[in-house]
Amino acid sequence: MKSNLMIKYCPYCGNKLIRKMIEERKRLFCPKCDRVYYENPTPVVAVVARDKEGQVLLVKRKLEPGKGRWALPSGFMEIEESPIQAALRELKEETGIVGRFKRLIGVYSNKSEVHGYLVNIIYEAEIVGGNICASDDAEEAKFFTVEELPPLVFQSHREALGEVLKQIL
Ligand SMILES: [Zn+2]
Repeated sequence: MKSNLMIKYCPYCGNKLIRKMIEERKRLFCPKCDRVYYENPTPVVAVVARDKEGQVLLVKRKLEPGKGRWALPSGFMEIEESPIQAALRELKEETGIVGRFKRLIGVYSNKSEVHGYLVNIIYEAEIVGGNICASDDAEEAKFFTVEELPPLVFQSHREALGEVLKQIL
């Protein structure tokens, strides 16, 4: 099992951490500090944004996981921002497009080979401005008609986009 923390040593005393059965789960534990390191999934966000013609905005990923594959604009939440702020920030950073909250499509949990356990919060955004321009973690940003949509690399993105398309098709 991949740990989200991926730490081997106690950050306080440097002792090697062990796995110990605590509260019905094998948890990382420092025997010297008597401290449990709880592992929690990391929140990530993604956005479905469509233009006036109903085309869907996608990005070609620059990094693993899914490098070179198409996905929704997405990324990690930062501290001191809400999930919707994170989603609209990632949209702007990766595509140049400015969005506004439309609705929450769903919350999905999955395991990434690279990042461990994730909770993926996926919104639909209304496009209110900006000019399409790929940057940051996106190699390319492009609007696709529903007929031309390429396969999306992440299951949660496929499910969320499927939810949106179900309502219009
Ligand atoms: Zn310790």
